[in-house]
Amino acid sequence: METKANLIGGEWARTSGSRPNINPSNTNEIVGNYAEATAADVKDAAEAARNASASWAGAPLGDRARLLETVANQIDARRAELALLLSREEGKALRDATAEVVRSADIFRFYAGEVYRMSGDRVASVRRGVGVEVFNEPVGVVGLITPWNFPMVIPAWKIAPALAYGNTVLFKPSELVPACGWALAQIIKDAGAPAGVFNLLMGGGDVGKAILDVVDAVSFTGSVATGRAVAQQAVARMIPAQCELGGKNPLIIAADADLSVAVDCAVQGSYIQTGQRCTASSRLVVDRQIVADFTEALVERMKALVVGEGPSPETDIGPVADDRQFSKDLSYIDLAEREGARRLFGGEQLNRATPGYYLSPALFTDSTNAMRINREEVFGPIACIIPVRDYDEALQVANDTEFGLSAGIVTTSLKLAHHFKANIRSGIAMVNLPTAGVDFHVPLSGMKSSSYGQPELGAHAMRFYTKTRTAYTFPG
Ligand code: NAD
Repeated sequence: METKANLIGGEWARTSGSRPNINPSNTNEIVGNYAEATAADVKDAAEAARNASASWAGAPLGDRARLLETVANQIDARRAELALLLSREEGKALRDATAEVVRSADIFRFYAGEVYRMSGDRVASVRRGVGVEVFNEPVGVVGLITPWNFPMVIPAWKIAPALAYGNTVLFKPSELVPACGWALAQIIKDAGAPAGVFNLLMGGGDVGKAILDVVDAVSFTGSVATGRAVAQQAVARMIPAQCELGGKNPLIIAADADLSVAVDCAVQGSYIQTGQRCTASSRLVVDRQIVADFTEALVERMKALVVGEGPSPETDIGPVADDRQFSKDLSYIDLAEREGARRLFGGEQLNRATPGYYLSPALFTDSTNAMRINREEVFGPIACIIPVRDYDEALQVANDTEFGLSAGIVTTSLKLAHHFKANIRSGIAMVNLPTAGVDFHVPLSGMKSSSYGQPELGAHAMRFYTKTRTAYTFPG
């Protein structure tokens, strides 16, 4: 099988090492072999990106906008093929993979428009006769490092603004899911990106570390532990770091909740995409007055969820992404039981027609917020009910965590909804909606350990991808 190469300076680069990309729905199937970048590759890519920098930063806006628009159109044109590739390498259900591909195209299109809005200011001075200009210019060469759970849309929401605001890019997808990253690189190259403007470097943490040594800024999405290391390395070099990290997201079910909305939000937020979303609801904080009815209705719904091969159209929940995450999920299921939580449903390894990491969605009850299962990010299809006395206790439990990415409440009370939005300590607050599932034209950012640096997405992305400077002129 041919090895898919890194893209360096506009060329597919010859390389020695490679890594197989295994399909988690069928571990006998290799999706492809993907190159591993060396230290020399990173150096070459950095040089190419640096050489391309001034020309891309000064390119007519239309050139940048057209590149992004062409990429969007190409993603759309290849929608079915890319969705299948995504599902094969990551395992998510085809309908979720398709939605991810569509959204990736939309993001490129959104930032094609944002190219024209890279604004500055001309303001009055405190001194007579002086003119003051505040302008934003590209940061230079940016490093983009992404996780495995959204192999296409997270790369898209970093690459599109990076290029839109005039930066050149070193992009490293997760070593677990390089296929979508490689396909994006192919699309960007074929769309006419000038040599060196966009470089693809595949491989693991060592490649990520090497990238951090050569870029002017880094945008990272991944776990808190890696994010901390990335931020430390960035600070040592005094370069900006944008880190979007993990979560332990609560969904509060208030006593006055509409039960069917509550069940919808819990199923969507906790189990769809195999619970492998940074915004997944892993803690279901439920008022005791309604906990029995809610639990019964939720279990009924869970029985109907189809766990199966990602690419199958019938599948609701695909397999866990790899053997390491699978073992981690199983060990946390075991831990939850040892800690005294009561397993009501699922949490079992399943057999399907092909060998894969199939796990039935797990629901625990009678858990407390002090248990490790409710304090540590698992990143699997596992949720725990934490029964509480009232809304005040629910809010206190929801906020009692080191994380602060997303949080939700299901309630029919406007008063509770407003109180929740004002007092929950998370970057994203959802009312009568699942904790997972965000728009791309507005900012995404967490609080506490879930985030570090500027928000991603929307027009806010300009704050990270540009450097602000000020000029004074007399007479001005
Ligand atoms: P991870 O932290 O293990 O890896 C993320 C990326 O960092 C990978 O590309 C990896 O190769 C690279 N890397 C590893 N060590 C590095 C180092 N020392 N320096 C530079 N790069 C390094 O995360 P993962 O397992 O791929 O993804 C799952 C995590 O991502 C979860 O914690 C999840 O919550 C988080 N996540 C957060 C968001 C968000 O927007 N907040 C979105 C998706 C996923």
